[in-house]
Amino acid sequence: MHLQSLLDDIASKSSALAAKGKVADYIPGLAQVDPNRFGMAVATVEGELLGTGDWLVPFSIQSISKVFTLVLALALDGDKLWSRVGREPSGDPFNSLVQLEHERGIPRNPFINAGALVVTDRLLSLEEDAFGTLLSFLRHESGQPDLDTDQEVARSEAEHGHRNAALAHFMASFGNLENSVDRVLDHYFRQCAIAMSCADLAEAGLFLARHGLRRDGSRLLSPSQAKRVNAVMLTCGTYDTAGDFAFRVGLPGKSGVGGGILAIIPGRCSLCVWGPALDPSGTSLAGVDALDRFTTLTGWSVF
Ligand code: GLN
Repeated sequence: MHLQSLLDDIASKSSALAAKGKVADYIPGLAQVDPNRFGMAVATVEGELLGTGDWLVPFSIQSISKVFTLVLALALDGDKLWSRVGREPSGDPFNSLVQLEHERGIPRNPFINAGALVVTDRLLSLEEDAFGTLLSFLRHESGQPDLDTDQEVARSEAEHGHRNAALAHFMASFGNLENSVDRVLDHYFRQCAIAMSCADLAEAGLFLARHGLRRDGSRLLSPSQAKRVNAVMLTCGTYDTAGDFAFRVGLPGKSGVGGGILAIIPGRCSLCVWGPALDPSGTSLAGVDALDRFTTLTGWSVF
């Protein structure tokens, strides 16, 4: 199978899905993105990197950042984190408040916003320069020393971040934040506003396909930790459509409202797709379609 022509073929078909979705506009800084953009990249464990369409164009990684803060917190703190955040699918939208009251401030999983805020809070306690640690990790793994936060997007989200502020305050009221709400939110908005391309994200996620090994061969996660992060991505990475994503794509995946999806084929490769037009759950329509086609045509999946 010729991977490049497969990717080009997928791009020509999946990009048409943009017409059926809607760009995220609850963060005004994201609303200007052209919904018809489409890119896809594959990074293999053998070191090959290829892509199609807008695969080198940076976009806002948004909730894909939650994977990276989770792995850094786990690498530093091990299993202790799981006493403050669960690992069950929520079946609710990513920014929902409803379960938190019943479950006494313990978020269902690290990929809904409440869970990601707890993970960020833990990282802030563990690392003096938590944001610097995240950025240097992403720069190193992607091989892009200049990647950074888009300050405009971060500011725009902070100005409209009432729901995330509500989640953080609510968890603080249950004693599930160690740092001030303002500090946690500031870090969270900046991590979501990091701009990376499909190529950068596929490279940065490759350690999950390498069972925890980083680009330079050093170990970030144990094979068991990498397996678990992949499992949580499969069950919770696309929120209330995680079941449908698993059904169609059959891979661990993490979406963001910037339109990106990072997906992992353990032992083989890491994939990133970008199409800014979203379904109602906040996941890229063209992105899911492209990953569905990719796993169907290649037969590469965890199942
Ligand atoms: N920054 C976004 C938010 O908190 C991330 C949501 C997402 O990408 N699903 O609303």
